[in-house]
Amino acid sequence: MFKKILIANRGEIACRVIKTARKMNIKTVAVFSDADRYAEHVRLADEAFHLGASLASESYLRSDLIIKACKDMNCDALHPGYGFLSENADFAEALKKAGIIFIGPSKSAIASMGDKIESKKIAQTANVNTVPGHIGIIKDKNEAIKIADEIGYPVMIKASAGGGGKGMRIAFSRDEISENFERAESEALNSFGDKRIFIEKFITEPRHIEIQILADNYGNIVYLGERECSIQRRNQKVIEEAPSPFLDEQTRKEMGDQAVQLSRKVCYSSAGTVEFIVDKEKKFYFLEMNTRLQVEHPVTELITGIDLVEQMINIAFGKKLDITQKDIKLNGSAIETRIYAENPYKNFLPSTGRLTKYHPPKEKKYPDGSIIRNDNGVREGDEVSMFYDPMIAKLCSWGETRDVSIKRMESALDNFLLEGIDHNIPFLSAILGNKRFKSANLSTSFIQDEFEEGFQGIIPNKHEEWTLASIILAYHITEISKDFEISEGFSKEWQVHINYKSLVSEISKLNFKIKKQVEDKIQLYVQPIPSKKTSGMVNEYLIIDIQKDFIAKLVSASIKLFNDSNHELTFPDKIQCRINYQNPNLELFYRGISMSATIFPRHVAEHYKYMKPIKIEDRSNLLICPMPGKLIRVLVKENDIIDEGQPLCVVEAMKMENTLTASKKCMVYKINYQEGATLSVDQIIMEFIFK
Ligand code: ADP
Ligand code: ADP
Ligand code: MG
Repeated sequence: MFKKILIANRGEIACRVIKTARKMNIKTVAVFSDADRYAEHVRLADEAFHLGASLASESYLRSDLIIKACKDMNCDALHPGYGFLSENADFAEALKKAGIIFIGPSKSAIASMGDKIESKKIAQTANVNTVPGHIGIIKDKNEAIKIADEIGYPVMIKASAGGGGKGMRIAFSRDEISENFERAESEALNSFGDKRIFIEKFITEPRHIEIQILADNYGNIVYLGERECSIQRRNQKVIEEAPSPFLDEQTRKEMGDQAVQLSRKVCYSSAGTVEFIVDKEKKFYFLEMNTRLQVEHPVTELITGIDLVEQMINIAFGKKLDITQKDIKLNGSAIETRIYAENPYKNFLPSTGRLTKYHPPKEKKYPDGSIIRNDNGVREGDEVSMFYDPMIAKLCSWGETRDVSIKRMESALDNFLLEGIDHNIPFLSAILGNKRFKSANLSTSFIQDEFEEGFQGIIPNKHEEWTLASIILAYHITEISKDFEISEGFSKEWQVHINYKSLVSEISKLNFKIKKQVEDKIQLYVQPIPSKKTSGMVNEYLIIDIQKDFIAKLVSASIKLFNDSNHELTFPDKIQCRINYQNPNLELFYRGISMSATIFPRHVAEHYKYMKPIKIEDRSNLLICPMPGKLIRVLVKENDIIDEGQPLCVVEAMKMENTLTASKKCMVYKINYQEGATLSVDQIIMEFIFK
C-alpha cells in the first residue's frame, strides 16, 4: 500500500481524507496557505507543507507547488478532494509525469467528462438519456434563438465549462434569449476562461438525483445507489439524502445501469458521480458527470457502509474492486445538511470571523439506533476567512427510516453551537421542519417556492407562541429566583411582549399566571391568561422544567400540557433552544424561530407605554460594507441619480459575487473606494443624498 499521500485540499474534505488514510496506516501530508497556517487539516495531518499566499490562485490552485510538495515530502500519491485541482486534466497528467499517483480517474476521463458539451455527446453514444437540446457550440444570438425555438421554452443556457452551479440561466422566451445570450457568454469567459455556451430544455420542477459509481482499473464497475440533492439554492446543493424517497427499484436500476454504461464508455476508474435530472413521470436525463469525490458522499457511505475514500485509495493503488453489484444493499435513510458561514436573514451573505464558540453535536449512535456524523473542517477559535468556500461542516444523520433520520437531524441542529460568525442553522432547521420536506414532495425549486421572499425566520402559530413565551417566562423566573426567595409577595402575574427577528409585525402581548412553583426542581406551572383573541386556552396550563447545559449553551425545557380542550402540542415535549438573557430582555432561538421578548410583572407592564422608545441612528444615507471582501466592480458614478433597487457595486467574498443595491431613490454624493480595494465590515463604500 502507499506509504504517504498528499492531500491537495483544505477544510472538511482534507480532514475527511486524512481520517481514512490514518485508518489504512498511510501517512498524510497537508498543504496550506498563509490563511490556513493553523487550520484543522494542518493539525490533523502527520506533516504539512506551506504553499504560499492566501489566495487560492497562489496556493491551492498552484499545481507546480503542489507537485513540488509531493516530491519534497516523498509522497507516493495525491488525493485532490473536490473543487480546486480535482477536475483538472492537465494536473492529473503533470502528476503522472512526475511519477506521483493521482487518486482519481485518468486524464482522458476527466477531460471528456469535464466539458458539458463533450460529455453529453459521449453520453448519447453510450445510450444514456440526455436532456433534449442542442449538443454543440452555438455561433451567435440568432442561432441561439433558432435552436431555442426548436427545443421549446423554457430553455436553459449553460456554459460548457461551467460548474458549482455557476454559469447557467433560464430563458422563458425569445426575448430572454437575445437579452441573455451575450451576457452568458461573457460570464462564462470570465468565470471559466471558456465562452462556449449551449442550450438545453429546462425541465420544470425536476428533482436532482445522482448515482455514485466505483470503478477499478480492470473494468469492474458498480453503482452504490443514488443521492437526492433537490434542496438547492441558486443551483447549489444545501441538503442531500440517500436513498431518494422518489425512486422505485426499477428506476434505480435503470439509472444505475446507465451510469455504469457511461463510466465504461470513458474507461472510468475511481469514484465518480453521474448526475441526472428527473421529471415528475420519473423520466430521467443525464446532466453531467463529476469525476471526483462529491461533497455529499457521506450519505452514500452511511447507507451502504462503504468507505468511498478507502475504495479510491485501493483502486489508485491498483487493487481490484472487492465488491460486486449484488453486495450493495441500501440500508435505512441518511441526510446531510451543509453548515455554511452565511447569514440566511440577509440574503445568505457570506460571513467571516473568529469562531468564538464551536460545539457540534457528538458523533455517535443514539439509543433509537440512529447515528450522527459530522464532517468537520474547523475547531473552536479558528478564523473563517474570506478566501475560500463558506462551507464549514457537513452534519449527517442516519436512521432506519427517513422520519427517524429527520428527527435525529432536527435535534442535532438544535444542539449545534456556533458563535462568532453568522450561520445557516436556523434556515436548515426551517427546511427540516417544513411539512412539504417531511412528506418528501421535493423539487429543485423547493427553496424558492417555500421561501419566496427569502428567509425571514419561522413565525410560530398562536399556540406555539404561547408555549415558547411560557418557556421564556419560566426561564426568567428561574433566573430571578436565584436572587431572592419566591415568597407570597412575589408577583404571580406577568406580561411577555414578543417580537420576531427581521419581521416588522405587531408585538404580541401575552399574560400569564404562575400557579405554583415546585422548590428545588425549578418546575413551574404556567397558565396563560386568556384575552379576547385567545379565548380557547382558558383552562390550559403548562408544567415547565428548565435545565441548562452551560457548555453547549443549551436550555432544555420539558413541557407538559394540561387542558380540557383538544389542543395538541405541536412541539416535542422536550424543547432544546438557546436563550440570550439580559433582564428584562430575552431572545429565544428555536428551529428557525427567533423571538425577542421583554418581560414585566403585570402591574409594571401597565406603565410600559410611558417609556420613551430608543432612537436608532439613521445610516440609510451610507452604503456600508456588509462583509470583508474585495470591491470588484463599482456600477455608479458620483452625482448619479439612483433608483430603488439599482445595483451599486459588487463585492466578492468567499468565491461569491455579492451585488449591493440601493435601498431607496437617491443621488450618489461620494464614492470612497475604487475597484480592487479590499474592504472590511462596516467600511462606508459610498454616501448618498436623498432629494
Ligand atoms: P457537488 O456536486 O459535489 O456538490 P459542486 O458542483 O457543488 O459539487 O462543487 C464542489 C466544490 O467545487 C464546491 O466547493 C464548489 O464551489 C467547487 N467548484 C466546482 N466547480 C467549480 C468551478 N468551476 N469554479 C469554482 N469552484 C467550483
Ligand atoms: P454544475 O456543474 O454547476 O453542477 P449541473 O449541470 O450539474 O451544473 O446543474 C446544476 C443544477 O442546475 C442541477 O442540479 C439542477 O438543479 C439545475 N439544472 C441544470 N440543468 C437543468 C435543466 N436542463 N433543467 C432544469 N434544471 C437544471
Ligand atoms: Mg452538477
